[in-house]
Parts: sequence; structure tokens; C-alpha cells
Amino acid sequence: MPINIQKISCGLLQENCYIVQAEGRDDCVVVDPGDEYSKLMAAIGERHVGAILLTHGHFDHIMAAGPLAADYDAPVYVGASDVEMLGDAEKSGYAGMMGNPRADWPPIDAAPYGDAVSACGMDFTVLPTPGHSKGSVCLYLEGEGVLFSGDTLFRAGYGRLDLYGGNMHSMIGSLKKLFTLPQGVKVYPGHGDATTIGEERARYRL
Ligand SMILES: [Zn+2]
Repeated sequence: MPINIQKISCGLLQENCYIVQAEGRDDCVVVDPGDEYSKLMAAIGERHVGAILLTHGHFDHIMAAGPLAADYDAPVYVGASDVEMLGDAEKSGYAGMMGNPRADWPPIDAAPYGDAVSACGMDFTVLPTPGHSKGSVCLYLEGEGVLFSGDTLFRAGYGRLDLYGGNMHSMIGSLKKLFTLPQGVKVYPGHGDATTIGEERARYRL
């Protein structure tokens, strides 16, 4: 099924939020709504938001999730081990990078992922990919050959390992797992440009 993917870069860290819509539908899924709520709302336009999918619990990927969820009464999902990060200025990385927590730190009521999420006519397979954080996941649309990789896999890089819950051993296992996906799978990371599994696999000796 053809899908439409819109990338919106948000906030100081230029985090990539993706608005994902199946062709012929008037609703959409939002992956990693970082900051800049009003910019995201403008991009979403008239569409209904059916679900908000977080790749992990870092602040730059989640700051608009609470308000969006409230507006659309949409469920928010995050990896089970990252639930604890959402309301926590230290664990989410906010305090370390931005200083004092914002007074309007948004509460986020999120459910832990199961193996898959079906929303807005799309079936996302949830691939646990710990390493950057304990509960990092990648979201795979197998039929469409599309992967939302969060801060696990970037174009020419992978996510930091020195933040809360980061672990090199886990990251190696996660990259190995991702590199078993078909080479042509298009990868949409949490920062920077899109790439493919094949292009990234070629950079590593794993
Ligand atoms: Zn991150």
C-alpha cells in the first residue's frame, strides 16, 4: 500500500518528526513529535491523528506528544523500558542538555508497545533495539519497506551510548538485527537524512 511520509524537523536539536499516512486515508500516525507543537499542527492540517508512536523517551522526540494526544484523544506508545523517561527531566536528557526543566513540562500518558501497532490503515512491527536507551524501538512497515529508526541508526552513524540507559553491547546487537532486514528498506532516522539498510550495513563489520 502506498504511504506518504512527511518529515518535520523540530526544535534546537532538529529532531525528525514523521507524519505517516496511508494513501486514501484522512488520518495519520505521528512518529516522534518533538518540540514545536504549532509547527506540527500546521503540518498535520485537517487530518486526524490516530496514534503517536515514540521511538524512545528522549525529550527532543516527545515534547509535543502530550498536547497532540490530548487534542486528538490519540494513544501514545513507547518501549516499556522507556516509560520511566517520559516524565523525568533527568532520564529524558532534558536537564543535562537544556538546564532547568520547563515549567510547562508536558505530562505524557503512554502505553508500552506490544509486538505491533495497527493504526490508520498501517501495520507497524515493533522491533526492540536497545542501546541508545533501554527501551528504544524501530518501527517497521514491512509491506512498504520502511523503517523508522529513531536514534538507533542514522545515515553514517548510530545513537549516543553515553546517555541514561545507553549500552554499547546492546547497540551492537540491535544494529546486527537491523542489518538482517532487506537491503532496500528505506530508513527514516530521528536526526538527519534518510538512508537504506544496505547503505548502512556496508559501513560496518558486524
Ligand atoms: Zn535520543
